[in-house]
Amino acid sequence: TINEMKCTFPSLSVNEAYARTAVTAFAAQLDLTIEEIADIRTAVSEAVTNAIVHGYRGTVGTIELCVKLLEGNEVYIRIKDSGCGIPDVAQAMEPLYTTAAAEERAGLGFAVMESFMDKLSVKSKVGRGTTVVMRK
Ligand code: ATP
Ligand code: MG
Repeated sequence: TINEMKCTFPSLSVNEAYARTAVTAFAAQLDLTIEEIADIRTAVSEAVTNAIVHGYRGTVGTIELCVKLLEGNEVYIRIKDSGCGIPDVAQAMEPLYTTAAAEERAGLGFAVMESFMDKLSVKSKVGRGTTVVMRK
């Protein structure tokens, strides 16, 4: 790890823009293309939005963000909530799967993270929360 940052913020929807800007401001130390930065912003948005709308549905909790800049011009991003958790992660990650269809969610957040980043891992425990790790 060349450099790293950590921050925590409450799961308020205004902080989604903060998180994506914080990540890209920090990752600006790497040599990334505009396209790569746009992909990272989108992926971070999706993960943070999920923590806010699903993880802490109807409540406000803490979201932890950690960004590491790695050798080889690589960025590691971890987004963690201590919310409700996901009972079946494999199912949740399937494109078009959503538990919030009534709110006009498309069920594409994980699919977007997967296609815009090089690696995606999701760990979750019901009642404990969810951790999303992405690399690019
Ligand atoms: P979209 O992202 O297209 O608006 P979505 O959020 O439902 O729709 P995904 O982001 O792919 O789609 O997430 C799929 C499902 O996984 C969600 O509907 C939700 O049930 C569950 N999920 C995702 N992230 C979390 C989380 N942090 N905590 C709890 N459940 C989650
Ligand atoms: Mg989503």
